Amino acid sequence: MPEQQDKIAAARESLLAEIADEIRETSGYLGKDALDPRVIAAIRKVPREEFVPASARDLAYLNRPLSIGHGQTISQPYIVAVMTDLLSLTPDARVLEIGTGCGYQTAILAELAARVHTVEVVASLADAARERLGRLGYANIEFRTGDGRAGWPEDAPYGAIIVTAAARDYPEALVEQLAPGGRMAVPIGRAGFTQLLTLVEKDEDGRASKSGRLPVAFVPLVEGH
Ligand code: SAH
Repeated sequence: MPEQQDKIAAARESLLAEIADEIRETSGYLGKDALDPRVIAAIRKVPREEFVPASARDLAYLNRPLSIGHGQTISQPYIVAVMTDLLSLTPDARVLEIGTGCGYQTAILAELAARVHTVEVVASLADAARERLGRLGYANIEFRTGDGRAGWPEDAPYGAIIVTAAARDYPEALVEQLAPGGRMAVPIGRAGFTQLLTLVEKDEDGRASKSGRLPVAFVPLVEGH
């Protein structure tokens, strides 16, 4: 329905305006006061309403996280924007994502990079995300069900890695799979508390350094089977 589409487009624009405001308000943490225009374009393009439960469709464009079942959430759009922006993706990038969830962040990554590898520990979520992203036409995503804390070593190294659940400790195994010049965004700290969204940068000589960026609240990165 065209009216429905207009409504969605308007909701998406007001979401983008809210994200822009929040980026400005938190510029002290982020070290920048606007998103990369490519990140804005990706958020404008991905139909977030397709990633939330049918009962929550009306809430899809609110700037807040939503429950997607299995005790899991679809991340707040502002957080998706900040984490994606931190990765500084180029169109030729290969990205590893840990914590597919509903696949919304995965779709944003797939818009901006050449290839996305994504790992989800809950099989039913992984299956639903694979089906949904296939239906939406994404052909540059590879899915794996399992414990993402070990990464996806067979296809390493990656130019960017994003972890969308809270890591208790500095994730050495993942840092190892980062290419020289690569960037990783990962919330580090205990779940149930505030974690520190951390940027890990690997220089051309393979030396990694980290910097804390923003207090965040994610569900925990759990032990897989
Ligand atoms: N990226 C999602 C948010 C994911 S929520 C979005 O776009 O909204 C965090 C996800 O990480 C959950 O789906 C959870 O099941 C998953 N997860 C938790 N521990 C994991 C692990 N060890 N390996 C892979 N995925 C894990």
